[in-house]
Amino acid sequence: MDTVAPLVGAALGRWALELAGRGWPVYPLRPGAKFPDWHRGDHCPGTGRCRGGHRTPEQMATTDPELITAAWGRAPWNIAVFPGPAGLLIIDCDPAKPGPGTMDGWTALQALAEQRGGPLPDTFTVTTPRGGRHLYYRAPAGCALRSTQGHLAAAIDTRGWGGYAVAPGSVRADGAYELLDDTDPVELPGWLVQANVDHGVTAVSGRTDTAVAVPGAFAAAAVREECRKVASTPYKQGRNKALSRAAYALGQLVGADVLAEDVARAELRAAVDSWGDAASIPKDYAVIETSLSAGRHNPRRITPHSTRTTGTRRHRAASPRKDTVAWTSD
Ligand SMILES: [Zn+2]
Repeated sequence: MDTVAPLVGAALGRWALELAGRGWPVYPLRPGAKFPDWHRGDHCPGTGRCRGGHRTPEQMATTDPELITAAWGRAPWNIAVFPGPAGLLIIDCDPAKPGPGTMDGWTALQALAEQRGGPLPDTFTVTTPRGGRHLYYRAPAGCALRSTQGHLAAAIDTRGWGGYAVAPGSVRADGAYELLDDTDPVELPGWLVQANVDHGVTAVSGRTDTAVAVPGAFAAAAVREECRKVASTPYKQGRNKALSRAAYALGQLVGADVLAEDVARAELRAAVDSWGDAASIPKDYAVIETSLSAGRHNPRRITPHSTRTTGTRRHRAASPRKDTVAWTSD
């Protein structure tokens, strides 16, 4: 055990660096487990990294090689990859549950593709210890796809914003997460985007359905920038103001017909969710509605110039910030 652990740790560290090198933020999971090495929002001590309000692993996930090397040098952490900030949607196909007539997730997904007449292209794929598989797809720009459970089919979950997947290289007592196909993730097929956001089925959290209209580059950049500002506003430092300002600005784009209201709402809600402050969500969602509506009634005048200048700026929502990720401090 003493001789094996450092080897396992080194291999896991290399995997974490490899994934981060693809631009996918990672965070340590407890050794041999699938849970982050972190507390939940409802058990937040409000100290250390949470001094300014609870921080989630998604917010702290990083692609910084130095932080990763230091963290994985300390313990053989398993690895979580965060599809939201990575710009991915991961389809999690579970093995069949025991019992007559149940279908495993991968078979169900293939059946769904056939039924919808959509393609299921090869993409980055990871197998799980019990025979499931994770398919990594690139999420469409400007569309905050949330995690869903059993929404596509009974044995299929999706991992988007607010979710994570146990990454290849990770090990559990019952086996390993192994890379089955190292093809770079391909764009999520349109039929799967649609299936992921179809209404009529309520995902477990009850607020994961997201509209699908994809905004143009200008609106998408505005959405990313506004939501980045909201998500990065620390607890008790004007979150309410930041949120109402962002929602108003996006409401003005909705009023100008360059942004779908449900996309603006979904993105703003995702930014609020990223605060991890469940108790204030009803109030925050209400602020979004009020300010979106106020902005909509004062539409922004869109000129070709403003479209061009803002559209060329590329901000990634919730991109990991070195100065706020104090990984090595404890
Ligand atoms: Zn906390």
